[in-house]
Amino acid sequence: MAKDKLGYDDTPIIPGQNFKVHDSKRPQARVITPGTASTEEQAGEPPSDAVVLFDGTDLSSWTGRDDKAQWKVENDYMEVNPGTGDIQTKKKFGDCQLHVEWQSPHEVSGDSQGRGNSGVFLMGRYEIQVLDCYDNPTYADGATAGIYGQWPPLVNACRRPGQWQTYDIVWKVPRFRGKKVLCPARLTLIHNGVVVHHDKELIGPTTHRQVLPYEAHPEEGPLSLQDHGDLVRYRNIWYRSLRDYDE
Ligand code: MG
Repeated sequence: MAKDKLGYDDTPIIPGQNFKVHDSKRPQARVITPGTASTEEQAGEPPSDAVVLFDGTDLSSWTGRDDKAQWKVENDYMEVNPGTGDIQTKKKFGDCQLHVEWQSPHEVSGDSQGRGNSGVFLMGRYEIQVLDCYDNPTYADGATAGIYGQWPPLVNACRRPGQWQTYDIVWKVPRFRGKKVLCPARLTLIHNGVVVHHDKELIGPTTHRQVLPYEAHPEEGPLSLQDHGDLVRYRNIWYRSLRDYDE
């Protein structure tokens, strides 16, 4: 094989694709720089193609009640400011890989849903529960990393309160045609390096003590974080938009 030609042109077409096996004309994947892992003391670096939503400095990418995110920002993290309401990103996005780090209060108080409760709401509608479930039983579909009211996590991978925890989410937005659901939302969630949802289908938006059907909405939406009255902290929040191969 000549040096300037890295593949083959005399091979069969790969079924369902526009390229041949080892196609010499197939574009290369984009080069990016991967991120680094976080430590207890310091947040890691996001991958080079990530959109950073919170880097520990300010809430300029966020909004909230009265058009202002009113949570506290300190020492590389933000903290729920109880009573000021949920906050949400100004940016709207769709299919993505989303990274969120959170910490429940070091000082333990309350129990069940009353201990370190917050939430990561995809598109402002679909909640992954944030809760301190370290030695704190609650109803299963409301546990840490649960798809609230729908699916408990496969395992409880909680760290002790006061330690940083990670959610790595692969999110596929629901698709609608008119009011009809073409494809429900799906998510994979890795909690502290452990898969706790594997390509799980959501039944609809999040609610409490009920089941709600999907309501059609755009393919992009904001990320919101819940003010449930507890002093939960967040840091190092970023996403990468996911596209299809060869797009
Ligand atoms: Mg919650």
